[in-house]
Amino acid sequence: MDPLQELNREIQSCKRCDLFFSRRRAVCGTGDPKPQLMIIGEAPGAREDETGIPFVGRSGRLLREVMGMAGLDINTVYISNAVRCRPKIGKSPRISEIRKCSNFLRSEISILNPQILVPMGNSPLRSLRSVLGIDFGPISEVEGIIFSLGNIFIAPQYHPAAILRNPKRYERFKDNFSRLREFVDDVRRMDSGEIEKNYRIRHISGA
Ligand code: SF4
Repeated sequence: MDPLQELNREIQSCKRCDLFFSRRRAVCGTGDPKPQLMIIGEAPGAREDETGIPFVGRSGRLLREVMGMAGLDINTVYISNAVRCRPKIGKSPRISEIRKCSNFLRSEISILNPQILVPMGNSPLRSLRSVLGIDFGPISEVEGIIFSLGNIFIAPQYHPAAILRNPKRYERFKDNFSRLREFVDDVRRMDSGEIEKNYRIRHISGA
């Protein structure tokens, strides 16, 4: 079986944490199986839990809107989550749930091999801490920065749910996705020296 299909079957039958008891469906990632860009959200909401598809609720609509305005084709990216089962209503996932679920993110990154990761919000940053061994700090301090770790770039953004809660952040969120689109194009056509000249990249090393 294809490694991604095998991983998704494992996710769908996972009982590693208590979220298994309340979920309707575990939500696997979706999108281009050879993506340049991988977006990592927080966790499924009500609509995602119902449908088994990530980012189909209000946050997903906002994400699609800003990606569309930026000219980023959603069909060329892979969209996933830090946690695959819906957390308690109105709550963010617990650290223990993020840690238990992070093995799936590790496997997904290894199978898909994207060049650019876009963690949206604190939960995916915490999951990447488990996966990459790097403490990025809170999203409020790293949003909009481009990190480089070996041959992978990490470009954290706020989660669209945070923009819906605080619409004052919308313009910057939209601009960040426009810049991200330019970066995606430049990573495709420039060598690493040119990328260094054109962008302020923060180099980091893993544990
Ligand atoms: S949230 Fe992740 S670790 Fe917990 S049951 Fe769902 S798939 Fe398994």
